[in-house]
Parts: sequence; C-alpha cells; structure tokens
Amino acid sequence: MKKASTLVVTFDGLRRDRATAELMPNLAAFMKSGVNFINSRSIFPSETRVAVTSTVTGAPPRDHGLVANQYIHDAVVQGRTFQTADYKDLMAADAIGQLIDRKALGERLSAAGKTMAVVSTASPGATWMMNHKARTIGHPVFSVHGEPISTLDLHRAALEKFGPVPADATPNTARLDYACSVLTDIVYPEIDPDLCIFWMSDPDSTSHAFGVNGAETEASQRGADAAFGRIVELWRSGNGPENLVVMSDHGQITGVQQVHVAEHLPQYADRLSIGSFSGLYLENQTPETLAELVKYLSEQPWCGLIFAETADGQVIDGALPWSAVSHGHKRGATVGFTLRATPPSTESANRNDQCLFAAYIQPGGGMHGGLNRGELSTVLAAAGPAFVADMVSEVPCWLPDIAPTLLTVLGLPTDGTSGRVLTEALVGDGRVPAVEQRTLTAKIGGHEQYLRQWLVEGTAITDCGWTGGTGTWRL
Ligand SMILES: [Zn+2]
Repeated sequence: MKKASTLVVTFDGLRRDRATAELMPNLAAFMKSGVNFINSRSIFPSETRVAVTSTVTGAPPRDHGLVANQYIHDAVVQGRTFQTADYKDLMAADAIGQLIDRKALGERLSAAGKTMAVVSTASPGATWMMNHKARTIGHPVFSVHGEPISTLDLHRAALEKFGPVPADATPNTARLDYACSVLTDIVYPEIDPDLCIFWMSDPDSTSHAFGVNGAETEASQRGADAAFGRIVELWRSGNGPENLVVMSDHGQITGVQQVHVAEHLPQYADRLSIGSFSGLYLENQTPETLAELVKYLSEQPWCGLIFAETADGQVIDGALPWSAVSHGHKRGATVGFTLRATPPSTESANRNDQCLFAAYIQPGGGMHGGLNRGELSTVLAAAGPAFVADMVSEVPCWLPDIAPTLLTVLGLPTDGTSGRVLTEALVGDGRVPAVEQRTLTAKIGGHEQYLRQWLVEGTAITDCGWTGGTGTWRL
C-alpha cells in the first residue's frame, strides 16, 4: 500500500436517495463511517462523459471544454455530431488540441512520478476520458471493451487470470464482478497505484432500460453493492488503497414521453445536437435572431430551461446566461435547452421525477442530462486516514471539487483546477467555507425558468432547475 493512495469507486447514475441501506448495505455502511457529503451535485449537462471529464480535470465544462456527450465540433468532424462515446473522435480532437483545455489527473500524477490506474465497465469513450493520456504516459487501464481502451499488459493479465470478459447485460453484475476481480487481484497486488478509478456502469445502464425504480435496476444496485463489499474488504485488509472515495456522476429521473425535437427545428437540422440537453451550434447570429429563437423555444410545450447569451455576453430575454451553469465554452452551443421535467418535490426520498426525452430509451426508462434535482443529486463520501470519520457534511459540493481534493490528499498542487478542496472533510484542516443561496430567474411571455443555487466561496453550484408559468410540467 502506497502512502496516501486513494481509490475512487463510481456508481454510474446512482441518485443519492436511491443509495438506501436496503438496496446497498455495504455502500450505506461505508457512507456512515467516513465523511458523507449529503449535498453533492453533478454538473450541467448531467451526462456521463461531461461528468467524467469534470471529475478528472476538477473543472466544469466552461473550463475543460468537453461540452456535451455529443456536439457539433467542426474542427474535428463535419456532417455529423462529434461523439464522445467513440474513442476515435476523442483521439482526433486530442491530436489537434481540441479535446480538453485542462490537465487531467493522470497527466498530473505522471508529472509527479505517480501512477493512476483505471478499471471500468463504462462505455469506451467514458473510460478513455478517465485517463485520456494513459497510453502515452504508461498508466494501466482495464476496460471490459478490450484494447485499445484497455492497455495491452493489464488486459492480457486479466484474460489470462480470469478468462474472457462476460457479455454485456442488464443488470451487468457479471461484468462488474469480473472488473472487481481485476481491481482486487491484479491492480492492487501487482501495480499498487497511487490513485485508481473503479467505474461501475450500473445502475445507470440498467436504469435506462428498466426505470429508476425497476426490479432489474434494484438488482443492478445489489450487484454493484456486492462488488463494493469486496472492495471494502480489500481496503480493510490493508492490502488496497489507504483512502476510499465513493461517488456517482449524476442521478436519473423517469422519461415518460418522447419528443422529436428535430421536427420542431427543421431549419437548424445540420446545426442541432439532440439529447436531454440539446444544443444549437450557430454562427453569425445577431442579438435579434437569437432573441427570436429563444422566444420560439419558450413557446414550445416540450421546452424546459433555455440557455443563451449574445456574442458579447449580454443577457437575452427569456434565457439564462451560460455562465449561470458554469458553461459557455467556445466549443459550446450558442443556444441550449433542456426538455420539460417535473418541478422540484418537497419529498426527500423515492421521488418519482419525470421528464420528456429525445431518444435512446423507451417510455418509463431512466434519463439524465438536465437540471432536475433527481439528475443532479449524486453520492459522494470518503473514508481513510486523510478524511474525518463519522461526519455528515452539509456543505454543498460538486464534481469539480473531487480532483483538487484528491490532489491535496496525494500532496500534489491543485493549480489549474477550478473546484474547491473539500477542506471541511480533511484531517488536519477542517475549514468550513461560507455558503449562500440564490435563485436565478428568466421569464418571457408566460414561460418562467428558475435555477436554485448555492454559492460556496463565490462558486455557484446548482441544486436544481425547473420551469413554471406556461412552462409548467403537463402531459
Ligand atoms: Zn453516467
């Protein structure tokens, strides 16, 4: 075991109120034992590859520039959207310096002579982004998708020891189990990394197919929790990492009805990238044409929150500025919008938040990407010698805070990250930051939109966003 070594375990798509002791006893017990960040949030858009990149760079999309799961990126691909799920698109962008604008954890550790390992059952693109320079800096990666997402030596060692990787399934427990064995029986005994990311594709992929509360989704949570139980055992044995951090990248809510967004915006067919969060990538827009577009969107019964600003950063009536959600990168959309979703509920547990969806799932399946609290609320907890024990932290935090905190635990500089070191949770520090609250609004006609945020030492972390007036959720 290396001093200060830390393992980050991610449960993809696990909404905080779904991480119950009944479904996930090992996780629930662990979260109680260390510091439990009960107000942890994702980023916007709450999509996996954006979340991965925000986690490993310690920065929101405004700063790292991987602006959505898919987007229009003319410098790299023309005639179709840039796909972050596809490592070839990621490589092509990186080759011309158009992938991300901030250093990721792998590069930072490499420069300090330390090793970061990745073991993942996530998509090829998501796994690639966990340590996108792994091949050039010689860091090990194991992916269930094999080479070239996996690095050669680690993948061969896994196949030799455990045989072929089980087939993809929902629940994906057999794959999670296999990856867990790679972590516990190869990566720690043979590589002993300073930092490791272990990423589990469940419950996300199963929840997309069977819904947030589906029996199969609950089975996938139990499967992920069983794998986590084996990791806790390794950690307690003293043969794994010193510190253990658990997180999720976003939550999920229930998609109930499909919207064919492109049919409503035919004149933008080749400049539109569709998702739970959709973007229009436009050039040479005047403030007047942007205002017209925002007004048109605000009148659509499927449209949720709208983000836009003029080329010189001026507010457009009816839209929130990109800066409100730490977005607004030069590669980002000119105008973006979410699909309509239910407003925030006062109930804290087992809410059944709903939204419209554009693609990918069947009605009743889980969805994410927008600003509903069910999509933004994540799990984050940590334990080990670096972290305070038995602590419930109410201080709001988000994915960009994770990298600077890990770097501090590892004794490395945090320059170039935008997140906050979670000092309140660290042994030997304990500083608690000042927190304020605000609600941003924008209105046009009857369409109203709201963003409830915390300001933590001046940084806005979005709790949730919703629409009202004629934008109120109705089916
Ligand atoms: Zn995800």
